[in-house]
Amino acid sequence: MAFASSPFITSKRDLGLFRLDRWSFQIGDDKCKKNDKIICVMSSSDEKKKRKHFPVGLKIPMSATEKILTRACEKREVRPGENVWVNADVLMINDITCPGVSGIFKTEFGNTAKVWDREKVVVIPDHYIFTNDERAHRNVDIARDFCVEQDIKYFYDIQDRTNFRANPDYKGVCHVALAQEGHCRPGEVLFGTDSHTTSAGAFGQFATGVGNTDAAFILGTGKILIKVPPTLRFVLNGEMPSYLLAKDLILNIIGEISMSGATYKTMEFAGTTIESLTMEERMTLCNMVVEAGGKNGIVAADRTTYKYLEDKTSAPYEPVFSDEKARFLAQYRFDVSKMEPLVAKPHSPDNRALARECSNVKIDRVYIGSCTGGKTEDFMAAAKVFLASGKTVKVPTFLVPATQKVWMDLYTLEVPGSGGKTCSKIFEEAGCDPPASPSCAACMGGPKDTYGRLNEPKVCVSTTNRNFPGRMGHIEGQIYLASPYTAAASALTGFVTDPRKFL
Ligand code: SF4
Repeated sequence: MAFASSPFITSKRDLGLFRLDRWSFQIGDDKCKKNDKIICVMSSSDEKKKRKHFPVGLKIPMSATEKILTRACEKREVRPGENVWVNADVLMINDITCPGVSGIFKTEFGNTAKVWDREKVVVIPDHYIFTNDERAHRNVDIARDFCVEQDIKYFYDIQDRTNFRANPDYKGVCHVALAQEGHCRPGEVLFGTDSHTTSAGAFGQFATGVGNTDAAFILGTGKILIKVPPTLRFVLNGEMPSYLLAKDLILNIIGEISMSGATYKTMEFAGTTIESLTMEERMTLCNMVVEAGGKNGIVAADRTTYKYLEDKTSAPYEPVFSDEKARFLAQYRFDVSKMEPLVAKPHSPDNRALARECSNVKIDRVYIGSCTGGKTEDFMAAAKVFLASGKTVKVPTFLVPATQKVWMDLYTLEVPGSGGKTCSKIFEEAGCDPPASPSCAACMGGPKDTYGRLNEPKVCVSTTNRNFPGRMGHIEGQIYLASPYTAAASALTGFVTDPRKFL
Protein backbone atom coordinates (compact mmCIF):
# COMPACT_ATOMS: atom_id res chain seq x y z
CA MET A 1 0.00 0.00 0.00
CA ALA A 2 1.51 3.30 -1.04
CA PHE A 3 1.09 5.45 2.03
CA ALA A 4 2.98 8.43 0.71
CA SER A 5 0.70 8.84 -2.31
CA SER A 6 -2.54 8.60 -0.39
CA PRO A 7 -4.37 11.92 0.00
CA PHE A 8 -6.04 10.52 3.10
CA ILE A 9 -2.96 10.01 5.20
CA THR A 10 -1.12 13.19 5.91
CA SER A 11 1.94 11.37 7.12
CA LYS A 12 2.98 7.81 7.82
CA ARG A 13 2.76 8.76 11.44
CA ASP A 14 -1.00 9.29 11.11
CA LEU A 15 -1.65 5.76 10.09
CA GLY A 16 0.45 3.20 11.90
CA LEU A 17 -0.42 0.44 9.52
CA PHE A 18 1.18 -2.92 9.76
CA ARG A 19 0.60 -6.47 8.70
CA LEU A 20 1.58 -9.39 10.85
CA ASP A 21 2.06 -13.06 10.19
CA ARG A 22 0.86 -14.17 13.60
CA TRP A 23 -0.72 -12.79 16.73
CA SER A 24 1.29 -9.88 17.52
CA PHE A 25 0.17 -6.56 18.76
CA GLN A 26 -0.87 -5.66 22.24
CA ILE A 27 -2.46 -2.45 23.40
CA GLY A 28 0.35 -1.41 25.70
CA ASP A 29 3.32 -3.02 23.96
CA ASP A 30 5.58 -0.04 23.39
CA LYS A 31 8.58 -2.23 22.73
CA CYS A 32 7.00 -3.15 19.42
CA LYS A 33 7.03 0.40 18.12
CA LYS A 34 9.66 1.67 15.73
CA ASN A 35 9.41 5.27 14.60
CA ASP A 36 5.70 5.33 15.48
CA LYS A 37 4.62 3.29 12.48
CA ILE A 38 5.30 -0.30 11.53
CA ILE A 39 5.37 -2.35 14.63
CA CYS A 40 6.66 -5.82 15.33
CA VAL A 41 6.20 -9.14 13.68
CA MET A 42 6.01 -11.88 16.23
CA SER A 43 6.74 -15.34 14.94
CA SER A 44 4.93 -18.45 16.04
CA SER A 45 7.90 -19.36 18.23
CA ASP A 46 7.54 -15.96 19.91
CA GLU A 47 3.93 -16.80 20.45
CA LYS A 48 4.86 -20.05 22.19
CA LYS A 49 7.27 -18.14 24.42
CA LYS A 50 4.53 -15.65 25.22
CA ARG A 51 2.15 -18.37 26.21
CA LYS A 52 4.70 -19.61 28.72
CA HIS A 53 4.20 -16.36 30.58
CA PHE A 54 0.66 -17.49 31.28
CA PRO A 55 0.89 -20.59 33.44
CA VAL A 56 -1.90 -23.12 33.56
CA GLY A 57 -4.78 -21.71 35.54
CA LEU A 58 -4.14 -18.12 34.53
CA LYS A 59 -6.38 -16.69 31.84
CA ILE A 60 -4.72 -15.49 28.66
CA PRO A 61 -5.34 -11.87 27.64
CA MET A 62 -8.25 -11.63 25.23
CA SER A 63 -9.96 -9.10 23.03
CA ALA A 64 -13.52 -8.02 23.82
CA THR A 65 -14.91 -10.24 21.06
CA GLU A 66 -12.97 -13.25 22.33
CA LYS A 67 -14.29 -12.62 25.84
CA ILE A 68 -17.89 -12.41 24.66
CA LEU A 69 -17.54 -15.65 22.72
CA THR A 70 -15.81 -17.28 25.69
CA ARG A 71 -18.80 -16.56 27.87
CA ALA A 72 -21.24 -17.53 25.15
CA CYS A 73 -19.61 -20.93 24.61
CA GLU A 74 -19.15 -21.54 28.34
CA LYS A 75 -15.42 -22.10 28.11
CA ARG A 76 -12.53 -20.65 30.06
CA GLU A 77 -10.95 -19.03 27.03
CA VAL A 78 -11.06 -19.06 23.24
CA ARG A 79 -8.47 -18.32 20.60
CA PRO A 80 -8.90 -16.95 17.09
CA GLY A 81 -9.46 -19.75 14.61
CA GLU A 82 -11.08 -22.01 17.19
CA ASN A 83 -14.56 -23.36 16.39
CA VAL A 84 -16.96 -23.04 19.29
CA TRP A 85 -20.65 -23.60 19.90
CA VAL A 86 -22.03 -20.23 20.87
CA ASN A 87 -25.30 -19.58 22.72
CA ALA A 88 -27.36 -16.81 21.16
CA ASP A 89 -28.83 -14.07 23.35
CA VAL A 90 -30.98 -12.68 20.53
CA LEU A 91 -31.91 -13.87 17.04
CA MET A 92 -33.37 -11.26 14.71
CA ILE A 93 -35.28 -12.25 11.56
CA ASN A 94 -36.75 -9.84 8.99
CA ASP A 95 -39.60 -10.12 6.50
CA ILE A 96 -37.58 -11.28 3.51
CA THR A 97 -35.87 -14.09 5.40
CA CYS A 98 -38.64 -15.29 7.72
CA PRO A 99 -40.35 -17.53 5.14
CA GLY A 100 -37.05 -19.27 4.39
CA VAL A 101 -35.93 -19.54 8.01
CA SER A 102 -39.28 -20.80 9.31
CA GLY A 103 -39.53 -23.27 6.40
CA ILE A 104 -36.11 -24.77 7.10
CA PHE A 105 -36.89 -24.83 10.82
CA LYS A 106 -40.02 -26.90 10.21
CA THR A 107 -38.33 -29.20 7.75
CA GLU A 108 -35.42 -29.92 10.08
CA PHE A 109 -37.08 -29.85 13.50
CA GLY A 110 -40.60 -30.95 12.59
CA ASN A 111 -43.96 -29.29 12.01
CA THR A 112 -44.79 -29.16 15.69
CA ALA A 113 -41.37 -28.01 16.86
CA LYS A 114 -41.10 -24.98 19.12
CA VAL A 115 -38.39 -22.33 18.96
CA TRP A 116 -35.75 -22.56 21.66
CA ASP A 117 -36.81 -19.37 23.42
CA ARG A 118 -39.82 -17.28 22.35
CA GLU A 119 -38.44 -14.25 24.20
CA LYS A 120 -35.10 -14.25 22.41
CA VAL A 121 -36.47 -14.18 18.88
CA VAL A 122 -37.18 -10.76 17.37
CA VAL A 123 -39.05 -10.60 14.06
CA ILE A 124 -38.99 -7.24 12.27
CA PRO A 125 -40.72 -6.59 8.94
CA ASP A 126 -38.77 -3.77 7.27
CA HIS A 127 -37.49 -4.55 3.77
CA TYR A 128 -40.33 -4.70 1.27
CA ILE A 129 -43.25 -3.11 3.08
CA PHE A 130 -44.76 -0.16 1.22
CA THR A 131 -45.38 -1.79 -2.13
CA ASN A 132 -48.27 -3.35 -3.98
CA ASP A 133 -46.21 -6.46 -4.65
CA GLU A 134 -48.30 -9.37 -3.34
CA ARG A 135 -45.24 -11.60 -2.88
CA ALA A 136 -43.75 -8.99 -0.56
CA HIS A 137 -46.98 -8.91 1.46
CA ARG A 138 -46.89 -12.69 1.61
CA ASN A 139 -43.50 -12.53 3.35
CA VAL A 140 -45.04 -10.53 6.20
CA ASP A 141 -48.10 -12.78 6.33
CA ILE A 142 -45.88 -15.85 6.71
CA ALA A 143 -43.86 -14.09 9.41
CA ARG A 144 -47.08 -13.20 11.25
CA ASP A 145 -48.43 -16.77 11.08
CA PHE A 146 -45.12 -18.12 12.37
CA CYS A 147 -44.95 -15.61 15.22
CA VAL A 148 -48.52 -16.37 16.30
CA GLU A 149 -47.90 -20.11 16.11
CA GLN A 150 -44.69 -19.80 18.13
CA ASP A 151 -46.00 -17.12 20.48
CA ILE A 152 -42.98 -14.95 19.62
CA LYS A 153 -42.80 -12.10 22.12
CA TYR A 154 -41.21 -9.48 19.86
CA PHE A 155 -42.95 -9.28 16.50
CA TYR A 156 -43.15 -5.75 15.14
CA ASP A 157 -46.08 -6.27 12.84
CA ILE A 158 -47.61 -4.13 10.13
CA GLN A 159 -51.08 -4.80 8.76
CA ASP A 160 -52.30 -1.43 7.48
CA ARG A 161 -49.80 -0.35 4.82
CA THR A 162 -51.85 2.69 3.82
CA ASN A 163 -50.89 4.44 7.03
CA PHE A 164 -47.90 3.14 8.95
CA ARG A 165 -48.93 5.20 11.98
CA ALA A 166 -52.01 3.02 12.35
CA ASN A 167 -49.61 0.19 13.28
CA PRO A 168 -48.18 1.07 16.71
CA ASP A 169 -46.16 -2.17 16.80
CA TYR A 170 -44.49 -1.47 13.48
CA LYS A 171 -40.96 -0.12 13.85
CA GLY A 172 -39.07 -0.05 10.55
CA VAL A 173 -35.45 -0.87 9.69
CA CYS A 174 -34.39 -3.79 11.85
CA HIS A 175 -30.94 -2.64 12.97
CA VAL A 176 -32.17 0.71 14.19
CA ALA A 177 -35.30 -0.84 15.71
CA LEU A 178 -33.21 -3.43 17.60
CA ALA A 179 -31.31 -0.62 19.28
CA GLN A 180 -34.33 1.57 19.97
CA GLU A 181 -36.29 -1.33 21.46
CA GLY A 182 -33.52 -2.36 23.85
CA HIS A 183 -32.44 -5.61 22.16
CA CYS A 184 -28.80 -4.50 21.88
CA ARG A 185 -26.86 -5.01 25.11
CA PRO A 186 -23.16 -5.01 26.00
CA GLY A 187 -21.45 -8.38 26.33
CA GLU A 188 -24.21 -10.30 24.55
CA VAL A 189 -24.38 -12.29 21.31
CA LEU A 190 -26.86 -11.15 18.67
CA PHE A 191 -27.40 -12.93 15.38
CA GLY A 192 -29.56 -11.63 12.58
CA THR A 193 -30.53 -12.75 9.09
CA ASP A 194 -29.07 -9.61 7.59
CA SER A 195 -25.45 -8.74 6.97
CA HIS A 196 -25.72 -5.33 8.64
CA THR A 197 -26.54 -6.95 11.96
CA THR A 198 -22.97 -5.86 12.69
CA SER A 199 -24.48 -2.45 13.62
CA ALA A 200 -25.17 -3.73 17.13
CA GLY A 201 -21.44 -4.05 17.79
CA ALA A 202 -21.73 -0.37 18.70
CA PHE A 203 -23.08 -1.60 22.03
CA GLY A 204 -19.97 -3.62 22.87
CA GLN A 205 -21.57 -6.90 21.89
CA PHE A 206 -20.84 -9.62 19.33
CA ALA A 207 -23.31 -9.10 16.49
CA THR A 208 -23.18 -10.65 13.06
CA GLY A 209 -25.31 -11.77 10.16
CA VAL A 210 -26.24 -15.41 9.53
CA GLY A 211 -27.88 -17.22 6.62
CA ASN A 212 -31.33 -18.77 6.70
CA THR A 213 -30.07 -22.27 7.48
CA ASP A 214 -27.96 -21.10 10.40
CA ALA A 215 -30.85 -18.99 11.67
CA ALA A 216 -33.18 -22.01 11.49
CA PHE A 217 -30.64 -24.02 13.49
CA ILE A 218 -30.45 -21.26 16.10
CA LEU A 219 -34.26 -21.18 16.24
CA GLY A 220 -34.27 -24.88 17.10
CA THR A 221 -31.29 -25.05 19.44
CA GLY A 222 -30.27 -21.57 20.55
CA LYS A 223 -26.73 -22.30 19.39
CA ILE A 224 -24.51 -22.02 16.37
CA LEU A 225 -20.94 -23.04 15.53
CA ILE A 226 -18.69 -20.01 15.17
CA LYS A 227 -15.04 -19.73 14.24
CA VAL A 228 -13.53 -17.18 16.58
CA PRO A 229 -12.37 -14.25 14.43
CA PRO A 230 -9.02 -12.56 14.94
CA THR A 231 -9.24 -8.87 15.76
CA LEU A 232 -8.05 -5.85 13.80
CA ARG A 233 -7.87 -2.75 15.95
CA PHE A 234 -8.64 0.68 14.55
CA VAL A 235 -7.51 3.52 16.78
CA LEU A 236 -9.02 6.86 15.80
CA ASN A 237 -7.70 9.84 17.70
CA GLY A 238 -8.08 13.57 17.37
CA GLU A 239 -10.92 16.02 17.53
CA MET A 240 -13.60 15.33 14.93
CA PRO A 241 -13.91 18.33 12.59
CA SER A 242 -17.42 19.80 12.55
CA TYR A 243 -17.91 18.83 8.89
CA LEU A 244 -17.25 15.11 9.39
CA LEU A 245 -19.55 12.31 10.46
CA ALA A 246 -18.98 8.64 11.28
CA LYS A 247 -19.81 7.81 7.67
CA ASP A 248 -16.63 9.63 6.60
CA LEU A 249 -14.61 7.64 9.13
CA ILE A 250 -15.83 4.26 7.96
CA LEU A 251 -15.54 5.15 4.26
CA ASN A 252 -11.95 6.14 4.97
CA ILE A 253 -11.21 2.87 6.74
CA ILE A 254 -12.84 0.72 4.06
CA GLY A 255 -11.01 2.70 1.39
CA GLU A 256 -7.77 2.06 3.20
CA ILE A 257 -8.09 -1.68 3.81
CA SER A 258 -10.33 -2.55 0.81
CA MET A 259 -13.54 -4.54 0.61
CA SER A 260 -11.73 -7.72 1.60
CA GLY A 261 -9.38 -6.13 4.12
CA ALA A 262 -11.18 -7.47 7.17
CA THR A 263 -12.56 -10.72 5.78
CA TYR A 264 -13.75 -12.86 8.70
CA LYS A 265 -12.13 -10.55 11.20
CA THR A 266 -13.37 -8.43 14.04
CA MET A 267 -12.98 -4.70 13.52
CA GLU A 268 -12.54 -3.17 16.95
CA PHE A 269 -12.76 0.62 17.15
CA ALA A 270 -11.03 2.59 19.87
CA GLY A 271 -9.43 5.96 20.52
CA THR A 272 -10.51 9.39 21.68
CA THR A 273 -12.58 10.08 18.56
CA ILE A 274 -14.59 6.90 19.00
CA GLU A 275 -15.16 7.70 22.66
CA SER A 276 -16.63 11.05 21.63
CA LEU A 277 -19.14 9.52 19.20
CA THR A 278 -22.84 9.15 20.00
CA MET A 279 -24.44 5.70 19.90
CA GLU A 280 -26.03 6.40 16.52
CA GLU A 281 -22.65 7.38 15.08
CA ARG A 282 -21.04 4.24 16.53
CA MET A 283 -23.82 2.25 14.86
CA THR A 284 -22.96 3.82 11.50
CA LEU A 285 -19.36 2.73 11.98
CA CYS A 286 -20.17 -0.86 12.95
CA ASN A 287 -22.93 -1.11 10.32
CA MET A 288 -20.42 -0.89 7.49
CA VAL A 289 -17.69 -3.24 8.76
CA VAL A 290 -19.30 -5.89 6.61
CA GLU A 291 -18.39 -3.79 3.55
CA ALA A 292 -14.77 -4.62 4.38
CA GLY A 293 -15.67 -8.29 4.92
CA GLY A 294 -15.66 -7.94 8.70
CA LYS A 295 -17.33 -10.65 10.77
CA ASN A 296 -18.29 -8.11 13.40
CA GLY A 297 -17.47 -4.61 14.56
CA ILE A 298 -17.18 -3.60 18.17
CA VAL A 299 -16.91 -0.46 20.27
CA ALA A 300 -16.30 -0.80 24.00
CA ALA A 301 -19.33 0.08 26.10
CA ASP A 302 -18.96 3.25 28.14
CA ARG A 303 -21.03 5.95 29.78
CA THR A 304 -22.50 6.92 26.42
CA THR A 305 -23.71 3.35 25.96
CA TYR A 306 -25.14 3.03 29.45
CA LYS A 307 -26.93 6.35 29.15
CA TYR A 308 -28.51 5.32 25.82
CA LEU A 309 -29.69 2.05 27.37
CA GLU A 310 -31.17 3.63 30.51
CA ASP A 311 -34.69 3.97 29.13
CA LYS A 312 -34.46 1.06 26.66
CA THR A 313 -33.91 -2.05 28.73
CA SER A 314 -34.08 -3.29 32.28
CA ALA A 315 -32.36 -6.56 31.38
CA PRO A 316 -29.06 -7.05 33.19
CA TYR A 317 -25.96 -7.08 31.01
CA GLU A 318 -22.24 -7.52 31.54
CA PRO A 319 -19.90 -5.35 29.48
CA VAL A 320 -16.52 -6.79 28.58
CA PHE A 321 -13.38 -5.01 27.43
CA SER A 322 -10.24 -5.95 25.57
CA ASP A 323 -7.39 -6.72 27.92
CA GLU A 324 -4.41 -4.43 27.87
CA LYS A 325 -2.31 -7.34 26.61
CA ALA A 326 -4.93 -8.67 24.18
CA ARG A 327 -3.58 -9.93 20.87
CA PHE A 328 -4.50 -8.12 17.70
CA LEU A 329 -3.70 -9.19 14.19
CA ALA A 330 -2.91 -5.61 13.27
CA GLN A 331 -3.50 -2.11 14.48
CA TYR A 332 -4.36 0.89 12.31
CA ARG A 333 -4.08 4.46 13.52
CA PHE A 334 -5.89 7.46 12.12
CA ASP A 335 -5.65 11.14 12.98
CA VAL A 336 -9.25 12.22 12.45
CA SER A 337 -8.52 15.93 12.85
CA LYS A 338 -6.82 15.92 9.45
CA MET A 339 -9.51 14.06 7.53
CA GLU A 340 -11.80 15.52 4.87
CA PRO A 341 -15.35 14.62 3.77
CA LEU A 342 -15.40 11.54 1.57
CA VAL A 343 -17.57 9.62 -0.84
CA ALA A 344 -17.40 6.08 -2.17
CA LYS A 345 -17.76 6.30 -5.93
CA PRO A 346 -19.64 3.68 -7.98
CA HIS A 347 -19.59 0.72 -7.74
CA SER A 348 -17.86 -0.27 -4.55
CA PRO A 349 -17.82 0.99 -0.95
CA ASP A 350 -14.01 0.99 -1.03
CA ASN A 351 -13.86 3.27 -4.09
CA ARG A 352 -12.91 6.19 -1.87
CA ALA A 353 -12.53 9.77 -3.04
CA LEU A 354 -12.55 13.19 -1.45
CA ALA A 355 -15.95 14.83 -1.92
CA ARG A 356 -14.23 17.96 -3.26
CA GLU A 357 -12.48 15.87 -5.91
CA CYS A 358 -15.88 14.85 -7.32
CA SER A 359 -17.33 18.35 -7.58
CA ASN A 360 -17.75 17.95 -11.35
CA VAL A 361 -20.03 14.92 -10.94
CA LYS A 362 -23.55 16.01 -11.84
CA ILE A 363 -26.21 14.15 -9.91
CA ASP A 364 -29.90 13.40 -10.50
CA ARG A 365 -31.09 12.84 -6.96
CA VAL A 366 -30.22 12.48 -3.28
CA TYR A 367 -31.42 9.74 -0.96
CA ILE A 368 -31.16 10.05 2.82
CA GLY A 369 -32.23 6.89 4.61
CA SER A 370 -31.40 3.29 5.64
CA CYS A 371 -29.91 1.67 8.74
CA THR A 372 -26.66 3.46 8.00
CA GLY A 373 -27.91 6.95 7.21
CA GLY A 374 -31.59 7.20 8.18
CA LYS A 375 -31.34 7.70 11.93
CA THR A 376 -32.51 10.81 13.78
CA GLU A 377 -29.02 12.28 13.97
CA ASP A 378 -28.50 11.70 10.25
CA PHE A 379 -31.53 13.83 9.47
CA MET A 380 -30.48 16.42 12.03
CA ALA A 381 -27.14 16.65 10.23
CA ALA A 382 -28.81 17.08 6.84
CA ALA A 383 -31.15 19.71 8.29
CA LYS A 384 -28.15 21.60 9.65
CA VAL A 385 -26.72 21.92 6.14
CA PHE A 386 -30.04 23.03 4.63
CA LEU A 387 -30.49 25.55 7.42
CA ALA A 388 -26.98 26.94 7.08
CA SER A 389 -27.38 27.35 3.33
CA GLY A 390 -30.77 29.03 3.32
CA LYS A 391 -31.18 27.59 -0.20
CA THR A 392 -33.44 25.04 -1.83
CA VAL A 393 -32.45 21.72 -3.35
CA LYS A 394 -31.56 21.45 -7.04
CA VAL A 395 -32.45 17.77 -7.41
CA PRO A 396 -35.20 15.53 -6.03
CA THR A 397 -34.27 14.71 -2.45
CA PHE A 398 -35.79 11.61 -0.89
CA LEU A 399 -35.98 11.24 2.88
CA VAL A 400 -36.71 7.83 4.41
CA PRO A 401 -36.64 7.68 8.22
CA ALA A 402 -35.36 4.31 9.40
CA THR A 403 -38.08 3.78 11.98
CA GLN A 404 -41.37 5.11 13.19
CA LYS A 405 -39.56 6.76 16.10
CA VAL A 406 -37.16 8.52 13.72
CA TRP A 407 -40.13 9.71 11.65
CA MET A 408 -41.72 11.12 14.79
CA ASP A 409 -38.47 12.81 15.80
CA LEU A 410 -38.38 14.64 12.46
CA TYR A 411 -41.73 16.21 13.26
CA THR A 412 -41.17 16.94 16.94
CA LEU A 413 -37.51 17.61 17.76
CA GLU A 414 -36.16 21.09 17.32
CA VAL A 415 -33.00 21.45 15.30
CA PRO A 416 -30.40 23.28 17.42
CA GLY A 417 -29.82 26.83 16.27
CA SER A 418 -32.93 26.91 14.08
CA GLY A 419 -35.11 29.09 16.28
CA GLY A 420 -37.45 26.22 17.06
CA LYS A 421 -37.80 24.56 13.66
CA THR A 422 -38.12 20.81 13.27
CA CYS A 423 -36.28 18.77 10.65
CA SER A 424 -39.51 18.32 8.71
CA LYS A 425 -40.03 22.09 8.55
CA ILE A 426 -36.47 22.68 7.37
CA PHE A 427 -36.79 19.95 4.76
CA GLU A 428 -40.04 21.44 3.53
CA GLU A 429 -38.46 24.90 3.23
CA ALA A 430 -35.52 23.38 1.36
CA GLY A 431 -37.86 21.74 -1.15
CA CYS A 432 -37.22 18.10 -0.23
CA ASP A 433 -39.83 15.37 -0.63
CA PRO A 434 -41.76 14.91 2.65
CA PRO A 435 -40.34 12.16 4.89
CA ALA A 436 -41.60 8.80 3.63
CA SER A 437 -42.98 5.84 5.56
CA PRO A 438 -40.16 4.21 7.54
CA SER A 439 -38.63 1.09 5.99
CA CYS A 440 -35.59 -0.04 4.00
CA ALA A 441 -37.31 1.48 0.94
CA ALA A 442 -34.88 1.90 -1.97
CA CYS A 443 -31.69 1.06 -0.08
CA MET A 444 -31.87 -2.42 -1.59
CA GLY A 445 -33.94 -1.54 -4.63
CA GLY A 446 -37.00 -3.57 -3.79
CA PRO A 447 -40.11 -4.01 -5.94
CA LYS A 448 -40.49 -1.56 -8.84
CA ASP A 449 -42.97 0.67 -6.98
CA THR A 450 -40.65 1.16 -4.00
CA TYR A 451 -40.30 4.78 -2.90
CA GLY A 452 -37.06 6.38 -4.09
CA ARG A 453 -36.04 3.37 -6.20
CA LEU A 454 -33.68 4.02 -9.12
CA ASN A 455 -35.89 2.83 -11.96
CA GLU A 456 -33.70 4.57 -14.51
CA PRO A 457 -29.92 4.86 -14.85
CA LYS A 458 -29.66 7.90 -12.60
CA VAL A 459 -26.81 9.27 -10.53
CA CYS A 460 -27.62 9.31 -6.83
CA VAL A 461 -25.79 10.55 -3.76
CA SER A 462 -26.97 8.28 -0.96
CA THR A 463 -26.42 7.88 2.77
CA THR A 464 -26.86 4.10 2.43
CA ASN A 465 -24.10 1.54 2.72
CA ARG A 466 -23.78 -0.24 -0.65
CA ASN A 467 -23.28 1.05 -4.17
CA PHE A 468 -22.95 -2.14 -6.19
CA PRO A 469 -24.53 -2.20 -9.67
CA GLY A 470 -28.29 -2.52 -9.29
CA ARG A 471 -28.27 -2.08 -5.53
CA MET A 472 -30.88 0.68 -5.53
CA GLY A 473 -32.75 -0.59 -8.57
CA HIS A 474 -31.42 0.06 -12.05
CA ILE A 475 -28.33 -1.93 -12.98
CA GLU A 476 -26.79 1.17 -14.58
CA GLY A 477 -27.59 3.48 -11.69
CA GLN A 478 -24.58 5.20 -10.16
CA ILE A 479 -24.51 5.54 -6.41
CA TYR A 480 -22.13 7.80 -4.50
CA LEU A 481 -22.14 6.81 -0.84
CA ALA A 482 -21.77 9.80 1.44
CA SER A 483 -22.47 11.23 4.88
CA PRO A 484 -25.74 13.10 5.50
CA TYR A 485 -23.73 16.35 5.45
CA THR A 486 -22.33 15.61 2.02
CA ALA A 487 -25.67 14.29 0.75
CA ALA A 488 -27.47 17.47 1.81
CA ALA A 489 -24.76 19.71 0.37
CA SER A 490 -24.95 17.78 -2.92
CA ALA A 491 -28.73 18.18 -3.02
CA LEU A 492 -28.26 21.96 -2.79
CA THR A 493 -25.90 22.16 -5.78
CA GLY A 494 -26.87 19.24 -8.00
CA PHE A 495 -23.26 18.07 -7.93
CA VAL A 496 -21.26 15.97 -5.47
CA THR A 497 -20.36 18.66 -2.95
CA ASP A 498 -18.05 18.99 0.02
CA PRO A 499 -20.30 20.13 2.92
CA ARG A 500 -17.73 22.75 3.96
CA LYS A 501 -19.25 24.84 1.19
CA PHE A 502 -22.22 25.41 3.50
CA LEU A 503 -21.07 24.58 7.03
S1 SF4 B 1 -31.73 -0.27 5.24
FE1 SF4 B 1 -30.62 -1.24 3.56
S2 SF4 B 1 -28.75 -2.11 4.40
FE2 SF4 B 1 -30.14 -1.63 6.10
S3 SF4 B 1 -31.21 -3.54 6.51
FE3 SF4 B 1 -32.48 -2.37 5.08
S4 SF4 B 1 -31.86 -3.02 3.00
FE4 SF4 B 1 -30.29 -3.72 4.46
